[in-house]
Amino acid sequence: MTSSDNSVVSARNLCLTYQTNDGPVHALSDVDLEVRKGDFVSFIGPSGCGKTTFLRVIADLERKTSGDIDINGMTPEEAREKRAYGYVFQAPALYPWRTIEKNIALPLEIMGYPREEQKKRIAQTLDLVNLSGFEKKFPWQLSGGMQQRASIARALAFDADLLLMDEPFGALDEIVRDHLNEALLKLWARTNKTICFVTHSIPEAVYLSTKIVVMSPRPGRVTDVIESTLPAERPLDIRETPEFLEIARRVRDGLRAGHSYEE
Ligand code: ADP
Ligand code: MG
Repeated sequence: MTSSDNSVVSARNLCLTYQTNDGPVHALSDVDLEVRKGDFVSFIGPSGCGKTTFLRVIADLERKTSGDIDINGMTPEEAREKRAYGYVFQAPALYPWRTIEKNIALPLEIMGYPREEQKKRIAQTLDLVNLSGFEKKFPWQLSGGMQQRASIARALAFDADLLLMDEPFGALDEIVRDHLNEALLKLWARTNKTICFVTHSIPEAVYLSTKIVVMSPRPGRVTDVIESTLPAERPLDIRETPEFLEIARRVRDGLRAGHSYEE
């Protein structure tokens, strides 16, 4: 008995080494982490520190080299077969020849949902991300922020409890990002999901998270795990409070400490 009932992701001594022509790349080294039901966990660290790799191990898109990882008490493979998670990629990754509703329908079609149920879920998720009325549009008719909301809708459509998001707002300007951060927090509060969110923005990590995982490069390891003391209700101007700035400072210190691993 290692993990309790509400454990969603549990990693112990997790290691992943890529074999490349230039020799082994230690992308993850002895990662220990617990993500619990309802957590909003951000992973922050410089590029190349293994953030995407960690999400891909959870999603069974990469296999660990050693150590242990459970998703809802299952192996990543079992969790993938049970559709335990929705995945939002860095770029919206919508199919240009499909309308927004057809893009969102895709995983539902693959999973064999009846047409009526598909329609219902598309309407619900479009409403959640504030895109009702755009179902017949093609991705190129939408702004970058709207496209990313559509890919969030697609990841939500089959109602997995776990959402994996890899720098979903990284390419957007700050104003749009602020707006989507606020919307995502509301959505998270309303749907009770567990979210693993990759970012390299300190304010974004602090604003969104219940828990911040600070990672360092070469080999990717966790240098600090910060439990947020901010209240659940977070207006954007919470970012100017001393409490917020104190957490941001701790994240920055963790990132700086991690850099000393570099030669
Ligand atoms: P991050 O998302 O934090 O930027 P990644 O998880 O993408 O980092 O990468 C971690 C390290 O593993 C990097 O050094 C990267 O070059 C390397 N890497 C990632 N994917 C592969 C792969 N498929 N083959 C070999 N090396 C890889
Ligand atoms: Mg990445």
